[in-house]
Amino acid sequence: MTATRVPGVPVIEDGVLISTNPATGDEAGRVPAASDLDVNAAVEKARDAALWWQRLGYDGRKERLLRWRSLIVRRIEELAQLTSLETGKPDADATVEAVAAIEHLDWAAHHAKRVLGPRKTRTRLLVAEHSGHLEYQPYGVVGVIGPWNYPIVTPVGPISGALAAGNAVVFKPSEYTPIVGQWLVDTFAEVVPEKPVLQAVHGLGDVGAALCRSGADKMAFTGSTATAKKVMAACAENLVPVVIEAGGKDAMIVDADADIAAAAEAAVWGGMTNAGQTCIGIERVYAVAPVYDQLVKEIVAKAGKLRTGEEIGPITMPRQIDIIREHIDDALAKGGKAVLGGSDAVRPPYVSPTVLVDVPADSTEIRDETFGPTLTITKVADADEAVRLANDTKYGLGGAVFGKKNAIRIARRLRSGMVAVNSTLTFVGMGNLPFGGVGDSGFGRIHGEDGLREFARPKAITVRRGRSLLPSTTFERTPAQVAQIVKAVRLLYGRRS
Ligand code: NDP
Repeated sequence: MTATRVPGVPVIEDGVLISTNPATGDEAGRVPAASDLDVNAAVEKARDAALWWQRLGYDGRKERLLRWRSLIVRRIEELAQLTSLETGKPDADATVEAVAAIEHLDWAAHHAKRVLGPRKTRTRLLVAEHSGHLEYQPYGVVGVIGPWNYPIVTPVGPISGALAAGNAVVFKPSEYTPIVGQWLVDTFAEVVPEKPVLQAVHGLGDVGAALCRSGADKMAFTGSTATAKKVMAACAENLVPVVIEAGGKDAMIVDADADIAAAAEAAVWGGMTNAGQTCIGIERVYAVAPVYDQLVKEIVAKAGKLRTGEEIGPITMPRQIDIIREHIDDALAKGGKAVLGGSDAVRPPYVSPTVLVDVPADSTEIRDETFGPTLTITKVADADEAVRLANDTKYGLGGAVFGKKNAIRIARRLRSGMVAVNSTLTFVGMGNLPFGGVGDSGFGRIHGEDGLREFARPKAITVRRGRSLLPSTTFERTPAQVAQIVKAVRLLYGRRS
């Protein structure tokens, strides 16, 4: 039986998920689709694998993870080509994405022991006869659900953290990018052949939902805010903790003392790389009045040079094209002006660069995630107004500020998890920085120290090392001893400052 194929729309035929290129319809590959039973079986196998993986210890896991890292580096062209085939993104973009994933894998492997390993805490005077010990223990099995837009780096971030912390991982790639997901799992198995420490389960959204209910001990979800709510609801049934990396509507603020050429270049890159299908993509630009005209001119000039079908790949998920078209149309209907592109820019499977000005704040192009190569540029009186408008969103993922004197101050005031000053998206490429949002963009963190701790439970242990001078936790304490405790507390903490 052969279903009608639409380029880029995955189909399941006879239990096999077939993935195709969104522009050409060329087949990217096929993988078995999982049933609920398959998902549960994968988690069971992972539970056993996790125990073996934990026994390797931090050093043993580091060695394997670094071998996986090096293998990915050696085969980076193959991974980039596969990603480009499956998503339609330019090869160079896929390569840069792989580089970011390698950075996170390397960082997590090198730092897990320091961040999560056992350490002694400092003595507390009131219980000085006890030593305190802290370590971070793995959850066991972590379920990772990934999106299609960055099918390498978005899952490799949480997978690296989870594996380095000592968990086994069951990974559900997006139905649009299962082949890249399987490649990651297969290459990991080349360096860890003993046990299924990293597995993939493939299929549509129901497979992700099954993973949430499978008995996995922690879930890491990256995808849309709407699906995040479903994931949380499914996880709530068994109190499974979840880290949510959801959508964004990131803003760039351009202050009066900014380098305008650099800001324009960054806005175009931040807004249009991966054809704008970037969770931390710049979708809104707020420029102060003195630099606004020049910035618009330079953004239009630079974005106008991008070639659709070359630097600007197809929209990976065909139904997203309708959303992009609706946002552009809504902006224009409400009084916005297209200074580049516009409604005609939407020619499936492509959307050409579109720059809109004078777009009212209630337009969907300003309020909702567009996920296409569009930018709005809004003139503001000053940085205060820029911050107010930038923060007037339910999302809060990343952002950017261009300027000199006040740039870092402005960055601090943005309601978001990350901000790049005088660049865009840079934070996603730094292994030691946490990544995650606020509000509808989610909570919890991947990457960096926080991203490692996300996949481990803190375990506190106290060890008595002598007799209690101030015994408080016993029925055998005397009134005199309680009085002594109060005296000690007054001495230690009773002063006004
Ligand atoms: P979706 O929310 O549609 O899907 C994300 C994943 O969830 C997919 O694997 C999907 O499977 C799966 N899924 C769908 N339904 C369910 C369900 N009921 N229960 C469990 N899992 C389910 O997002 P997209 O794949 O369209 O990705 C784009 C979105 O991701 C954008 O909003 C973007 O901003 C966001 N994103 C956020 C990032 C961040 O770090 N904050 C990074 C990258 C993207 P299937 O594909 O098979 O439907």
